[in-house]
Amino acid sequence: MSYIVGVTGGIGSGKSTIVDLFAELGVEIIDADIVAREVVAKGSPLLGKIAEHFGAEILLDSGELNRQALRQIVFERPQEKVWLNNLLHPAIRREMLHQLAQSQSLYVLWVVPLLIENDLTAFCDRVLVIDVLPETQLLRAAKRDQNKIVLIKKIMASQVSREKRLSVADDVVNNEPELSQNLPYLRQKVLELHYQYLQFAKEKTKNNA
Ligand code: ATP
Repeated sequence: MSYIVGVTGGIGSGKSTIVDLFAELGVEIIDADIVAREVVAKGSPLLGKIAEHFGAEILLDSGELNRQALRQIVFERPQEKVWLNNLLHPAIRREMLHQLAQSQSLYVLWVVPLLIENDLTAFCDRVLVIDVLPETQLLRAAKRDQNKIVLIKKIMASQVSREKRLSVADDVVNNEPELSQNLPYLRQKVLELHYQYLQFAKEKTKNNA
């Protein structure tokens, strides 16, 4: 099993942006958002259960999940959201832990927006936090998705505070400055962390041998 670096940060903090820089170095990535889609892929047992529960209308003609329709249902009927979360959350967690156990590289980045909220830090050897000011989160998330400010604020309120996140961090990438000026600094920072994680991973392997 690889050395596990958990990566987290609030909505719009720049997790994907920073993780892409690690990916350029060939680092293996396990992303909670991708796993969440994989577990309900076309033909999967979980998608079958969702179709059984909500009716075949929840599927697109292609047999894939109609996410927009599902979002609408759970938005209107909170008890359905509970049902869905009870079905999906354990499956997503199980699949992520399975993928982590299968990973072969020296270290793996495990990207989980709600790493702290869902008590997953105990599975990590190290926690990397992508940090920006709440104002910046709001601005960037709003610009990216044309999201309504109220919705983003609601999501931010449901996530842990910046202070809490930083208190859990072993490493922090400050993603506050604008990317246009900041990219060389970020690449350098990512490279430094990369070598550090390779070193930690080797030490762990040695200690476990
Ligand atoms: P979420 O959890 O909401 O999916 P995230 O943490 O993965 O978000 P990104 O999608 O990487 O965040 O970044 C949010 C938005 O901000 C994107 O549009 C991205 O291009 C932009 N962004 C990220 N970092 C910077 C930066 N340093 N300067 C300017 N824009 C940035």
